[in-house]
This record gives sequence, structure tokens and C-alpha cells, in this order.
Amino acid sequence: MGNPNVQKAMDLINEQEAVNFLRELIAINSVNPPGAETAVAEAIRDHLAAAGLSAELDEVEPGRSNVLSALTGTGAEGEEQRVLVFSGHLDTVPTGNIPWQHDPFGGERVGNKLYGRGTTDMKGGVAAMVLAMEYLHRAGVKLQGTLRFVGTVGEEVDCLGAKAVASKGQVNDATAMVISEPSTNRPFIAHKGALWLEAVTYGKTAHGSMPDQGVNAITAMARFIHELESYSFTYEHHPLLGSPTMNIGVIQGGVKTNVVPDQCTLTLDIRTVPGQEHALITGDLHKLLAQVCEPLGAQCEIRVSNDLPAVTTAKEHPFIQLSQETIKNLWGTDVPVSGVNYYTDASIYGPHLGVPILIYGPGEPTLAHQPDEWIEIDRYLDSIRFYLTLAAAYLGTEV
Ligand SMILES: [Zn+2]
Repeated sequence: MGNPNVQKAMDLINEQEAVNFLRELIAINSVNPPGAETAVAEAIRDHLAAAGLSAELDEVEPGRSNVLSALTGTGAEGEEQRVLVFSGHLDTVPTGNIPWQHDPFGGERVGNKLYGRGTTDMKGGVAAMVLAMEYLHRAGVKLQGTLRFVGTVGEEVDCLGAKAVASKGQVNDATAMVISEPSTNRPFIAHKGALWLEAVTYGKTAHGSMPDQGVNAITAMARFIHELESYSFTYEHHPLLGSPTMNIGVIQGGVKTNVVPDQCTLTLDIRTVPGQEHALITGDLHKLLAQVCEPLGAQCEIRVSNDLPAVTTAKEHPFIQLSQETIKNLWGTDVPVSGVNYYTDASIYGPHLGVPILIYGPGEPTLAHQPDEWIEIDRYLDSIRFYLTLAAAYLGTEV
């Protein structure tokens, strides 16, 4: 750490201040649906403003705003500049039906743990990135490249916020990105894709006492499910992500015991590995569905409800190498890169920007979407150290 101001920024990291800021974000309900993330975006903007940094809200839908901020680099205009983007989402999943032992919006502290919806996924990561930016600024670190922060809406449902950022070209100058989704401060460089399908069979209704007069849509779907059990994906085993998976999530059909059902719907959650074409999978399954429907005289269709590609960055990429070196410099340990099954805004940013993307956040991946979600405060503070050091190392500093 050559630059004394970077050390100064590290020394500014203050546990009480960091915990208070995270508590403030946890106290704001941004459960999605509906999201209502604007209040979170405002809290981040106001926090940055108090530190002398400006941030802008960008309303994507009524009551739902992304928040964007930047530490502009000192590099000469027009010169090829490095731009590092810190990104995280502002929404959370619902608190669920299982009662919590801790108030989901209370930010209760027990020892080294802070409880609340979003502590892990991922207001902890968002707060840490904002604080890293603030401490760099307060310590007077002059970055040569530009550091951006983007807080997005809607990741838990449809990546609405990231789609808006991409379509408006708001981070098109990015040369690298970090997303602070939960990784227990380990470097993740790949995640699976998500393909959510809705299969529908259409039959012909009839009185339940005369089933031969109708076409049973549930029977057709049952045959499709049977076929799915022996369905195998075409793919190449991925060293970090392994194999694709498929889950049957919801089945709906029929109206009454004595009526032949004329419609049945099934939803599928398919998680893919890099290299799999989602359109090919959809086409394959449609063919399979049509094959079982035809002899019964049933009709069918397949609809796509979510389509996010898998994302991967080569572990040899200099930015990933630098991330690992940063971890080693800070804590003296070699932490191997890995991959995760959940998806992130990287599914939107990756294909759009074509830059290396690191997923690194203080949360616990296994606690995401669970009751009594918590974050370890030590790990949260360590993530601030990591973001701050990585930004200085990657973007370069002037004394
Ligand atoms: Zn998340």
C-alpha cells in the first residue's frame, strides 16, 4: 500500500458508523414485490451527500429508483481510463411465512451478528461499497481511474434496474465490475443462468362421468412430467458450476372433481451453465411437450418468464488476479475462485458490457432468502477494506 492516503482511508473505517448505516438501510422496507426502492436510494444519496459526494436518483418506475454516484478519476480527458463499477441491488425478497426470532427491519445486533432482511442479500454489500467510496473520498485519495457506484432496483424479480442502466448506457465506460452479492468474502467469478418456463396444455372439457368426450389437460401434463424425468441437457460440464438443474415449481389445473380439465399449467426453473443456449432448451422442451400432447388430441404452448444467461470471467483475467492478490495482501491467504448457483445483475451487465465481473460480498450465500437473515459484522468491515484497496490498486492513485 504505497499511498499514505489509502492507509488513511483504511483507518477511517469505523464499526459503529458502518453498523448504523447498514441499520438505516435495513429499517427501510424494500421487499420486492413491490420493491419501493426509492427510499433506500434516497438514504444512500443522503449519506454520500453528508460526506461531500453527489449521487443521483434515476426513477425506473414510480417509487422505484436506481442510485448512481462516482468518484471521478484524475486521468486526463480522452486518455484511455479505467472505470471500476461497484454494483448491488436495493430490493429484498419478502420476509416469508416462517416467523422470525429477530425483527426483520430492526437491525438487532447479537455479538458479531446483525440481523434483518437484506443484511446478507444484499444491503450489507451495498452499504460496504458506499462506505468504501466515502472513505476514499474523505481520506483525499486521488484515483486516476473512475470509481462508480450503482444501486439497482428489482434484481430479486426481473433485474429491472440493471436493465435500465444497460439500456441507458449509464455504465458503458466500465472496464471492470464488482457485484457485492453474498459470497462470504470469497471471489466468485461465475454464476449459473436462469431460464424459467411456463408449459401449458389445453384439452377439451366434458362431464367427469364421460371422460371419453373430453381431452384431459392434466393427463397430458402428467405425461410431460414423466418425460422430463428422463430428459437430459446438452452441455459441457463447467469446472466451477458443474451441471445444469431443473425444478418443477408449480402445477395448476382443473376446476372440479367431476369436470374434465381443459387446461393445466406447469412452471419450470432451469439453471444453466455457460455455453447452453436458452432458446435451444426452450425449443427442445416445446417439442417434447407437443409429442406427448399430440396422441391425446391436446394443444400446448411454452412461455418464457425469465431468461438470464450464465456468466463467467476467466480466472486468468488480470482483474481477477488482482482481486486475489488484494485478498492475499490484506489477509495473507490464498482464496480460490469459485462459482455460484444463484443469478445476479451480472446476467444483464455481462453480455452488455463484456468486462470482467467479480462477485464478492460480505453476506452468507446460504442465508439469502431465509428467515433470521444475518451478517457477520467483522466480515462486513473486511469487505469495506477489500473494496477500498481493490479500487485503489485497480484504478491507480496519485499522491
Ligand atoms: Zn441478491
